[in-house]
Amino acid sequence: MKKLKWIILFIVLFLFLHPKKTIDHFFIEENKATETIGFIIDSQRPGPTVYIIAGIHGNEISGVLASSHLESLKIKKGRLVILPEANKRALEDEKRTIPSLGDLNRAFPGVKKGRDVAELAFAISRHIDIMKPDIILDLHESKHHNTNEVYALGHSIIFADFEAVTIVEDIIKIMNKKIKDPYVYFLEEKEGTFNWEMTNRDYTVLTFEGTVGESIDNRIKEQENFIRIVLNYLGMF
Ligand SMILES: [Zn+2]
Repeated sequence: MKKLKWIILFIVLFLFLHPKKTIDHFFIEENKATETIGFIIDSQRPGPTVYIIAGIHGNEISGVLASSHLESLKIKKGRLVILPEANKRALEDEKRTIPSLGDLNRAFPGVKKGRDVAELAFAISRHIDIMKPDIILDLHESKHHNTNEVYALGHSIIFADFEAVTIVEDIIKIMNKKIKDPYVYFLEEKEGTFNWEMTNRDYTVLTFEGTVGESIDNRIKEQENFIRIVLNYLGMF
């Protein structure tokens, strides 16, 4: 009997020290033409919530592929909420936007009843308000790579909340170790973008811009590297 008590105590202690991570799925715009699925990895330990959104533009696939593969990721603390295919219709067509829908990245924060794209933006904004992330990563790709000679958005982080400049500078410093063309940062200024509108709601949003010109493997690696560095910086990975 005494032995049994010890075994139970050991199991309880083990479960307490090694809480099992859970994975839940959620739908945005369920049963509508713009329906898309996401997932939540919960470490079951207190910590930050990071929201990763990809595929706002349908021809920027590296962030979509990098974030879709994160289900097996083990995080040390907090929660990871992932919406890999925000604009599923545009992704299916491999187009930046669907002309009849309009640009999702100009439709935020969206409206409850309106065009499909505005309703989709509204549903995403509402989901973010439910999840209340500490930081949001918004994954994109640009046509051209920013270098010392070329001014372009590719190879950069974009943000709109100047209070986030310390985090951005810290992350860029880590990303720029051992690389030839340094990453740079830009300030977001366009109304209706996911970044601008979510910043207006007091979220910290980092938009990552990879570059389309590279091989798909390198483009995915670049996005994965950005995600890993941010999670590492937050002590989650
Ligand atoms: Zn984009």
